[in-house]
Amino acid sequence: MEGVLAAKKRKKGKPSALARKVRAWAGFLRNPVTLAIAGVLLVGGLGAGVWVGLSLSDASSDMNKILVATEREPSDARLPPPVPRSRANETPLNLAPQPDSERPERRLALAPVPPPKPQGPPQTAPVQPAAVPALRPVPTPGPLPPGTPAWVRNAVAVPNTSGPKIAIVIDDAGLDLKAMRRMAQNNIAPLTIAFLPYAENLQSQVDAMRQAGHEIIVHMPMEPQSAKENPGPNAILTGLPDEELLRRVRWNLDRLDGYVGVNNHMGSRMTADPRGMALVMSEMRARGLMFLDSRTTAHSVAAQAAEQYGVPNLRRDIFLDNDTRADKILEQLRQTEEMARKHGHAIAIGHAHIPTVEVLEQWAPVAIARGFTLVPLTALMKERRVVQNAAQR
Ligand SMILES: [Zn+2]
Repeated sequence: MEGVLAAKKRKKGKPSALARKVRAWAGFLRNPVTLAIAGVLLVGGLGAGVWVGLSLSDASSDMNKILVATEREPSDARLPPPVPRSRANETPLNLAPQPDSERPERRLALAPVPPPKPQGPPQTAPVQPAAVPALRPVPTPGPLPPGTPAWVRNAVAVPNTSGPKIAIVIDDAGLDLKAMRRMAQNNIAPLTIAFLPYAENLQSQVDAMRQAGHEIIVHMPMEPQSAKENPGPNAILTGLPDEELLRRVRWNLDRLDGYVGVNNHMGSRMTADPRGMALVMSEMRARGLMFLDSRTTAHSVAAQAAEQYGVPNLRRDIFLDNDTRADKILEQLRQTEEMARKHGHAIAIGHAHIPTVEVLEQWAPVAIARGFTLVPLTALMKERRVVQNAAQR
């Protein structure tokens, strides 16, 4: 400060009005009260920065563990091998909200400064927007007329909102119970949870997710291109005769209740097979379900088959976590936002693993504060229907 003043003196010869102002400011800044306030603000800022940094580094180290522990699939999902029945039976499932000691352990460890609570009054001035709670589902108004298709009957109802809509679908659900528990509690509903039909304690997991405001679809195992990948028991394979193929479709659909539709787990070979997809869609039609094409192959004929059978259908826009590092997932979410901003809506698929859930927890409140709306899959389906009907008139 003194140097600046000296320089100004040298240049102008006498103190200018500006120099006097600067001097006055210098005096103000030397004031102990001012210094104390500045110190508090600085320490607060550093604390927040350290917390964010720790959160991210913790997330990525967690991901490395997951990467080592699970087998990677090329374009589809990282699927842990099916849980052996005996092992799953030993550990009774409980997705009900856990006492505080269960979950926040890691959070406390990594968070010297607690994350902003939606309701809690900010500690300093109300400059920073607090985390905004995600859109909560609203109860379906009145009883539905008989014959209402399942994709409407079981849909999570959301209030009408303007602004770009994003549907996040969580594939491979039902195996990683830690991730499932987290999604039952973390208040970022509505997500669309795609359950593997061979998961254990399936219906109680489904019920817990519905209770938390999430929408449910069946993540139907279908034949991948590579014979090295195992889509799981009762998978839909191109080589099966019609009868067996249909039996498997029905087995998968009968495993749970309360869902709105189906998307494909793997299936890069199966979804490109017109005969197989026609059989799948015939059953979907009979049950009033919708179909989300995960688009694990560019050669998918799922949409054509669905249209043929009058099955409401959508397709995935973006995969979130082919690379499970936090910054990469975040990058995919940014792309999802961009797409939603451009087209009014976007569908992104992630997987039921802690790294993805953690990034979603951080991203969702910020995205909502920026004007995006998280919606269940059916909200986009209804919107598309309205557009299609208008076009047909
Ligand atoms: Zn999958």
